[in-house]
Amino acid sequence: VILVAGSANLDLTVAVPHIVRPGETVIGGDTVTAPGGKGANQAVAAGRAGGRVTFLGALGRDAAGQTLLSSLQEVGVDTACVQLVDAPTGAAYISVTPEGENAITVSSGANAHLLPEHLPDLTPFTHLLLQLETPPETVSAFAQAGHAAGLSVVLNAAPARPLDEQLLRHVSVLVVNEGELQTLAGEEGGTEAQAARLRARGPQTVVVTLGAQGCLAQTAGSTIRLPAFRVEVTDTTGAGDTFVGVLAAWLSQGAPLEGALQAATVGAALACTQPGAQPGMPTRAAILAHLTR
Ligand code: ADP
Repeated sequence: VILVAGSANLDLTVAVPHIVRPGETVIGGDTVTAPGGKGANQAVAAGRAGGRVTFLGALGRDAAGQTLLSSLQEVGVDTACVQLVDAPTGAAYISVTPEGENAITVSSGANAHLLPEHLPDLTPFTHLLLQLETPPETVSAFAQAGHAAGLSVVLNAAPARPLDEQLLRHVSVLVVNEGELQTLAGEEGGTEAQAARLRARGPQTVVVTLGAQGCLAQTAGSTIRLPAFRVEVTDTTGAGDTFVGVLAAWLSQGAPLEGALQAATVGAALACTQPGAQPGMPTRAAILAHLTR
């Protein structure tokens, strides 16, 4: 069973003629509401991909919190350890222009109240999946406890920020995109050299997602490179979260790294064919159908 510990936000998106300037009011389109947050997105991706998933996050005692709980439960994610706290549920306020430019304000709200003491008994779990949208002390404490309990700790180091060395030593699989890789490893050398530098600081495996170029993974003694799975792209929102969720689902079912990367590559590409993050996430059957072709 995978324990996904991280953020959950309600995404509120409005189409605007241009990004609002200081002091200005713009009239936008209707509000489009969607469940989001990297933690919840990855939990849903892993659940739809057939993983057994428990989500640990902090939500407010409000309507947004109920909406987010339902979106997790609908795909079979166990929400028994979700914490209801005295803060509003996290929200992302997203403006999108006709040119596709966006401006986003994130209100962390309840996510900032996820604390080290909220970690449940880890006995049922084999994998712990973390991101960086919850407090740094909480992420570090969870990784340390997960590692100590013998779980495989998968960290998606997004959004980008520098990490302390102790956290890196508790990570089994680190997943980053190119921007996050440069934040963590510096700009010197190519992607492989950067990934190798990062791996030397602790993680057994470093996976780098390369957008339409696919992904690269480094483990002891080997580098795996996979091209992206070619699809008609509608919206890449949620591609990264789907990649990480499917990877964790496959790893938790005992798949070898290369097989899990193939499934994640197919899953992330399928997510690009649908609008929105969670609604576009593929089922296990859809991933398998394309894997065996
Ligand atoms: P992020 O969105 O987190 O920056 P990436 O852009 O690297 O992450 O995308 C994550 C994964 O999604 C990629 O490794 C790839 O497998 C898949 N992906 C992204 N863009 C495309 C695309 N245009 N076509 C097919 N797959 C894609």
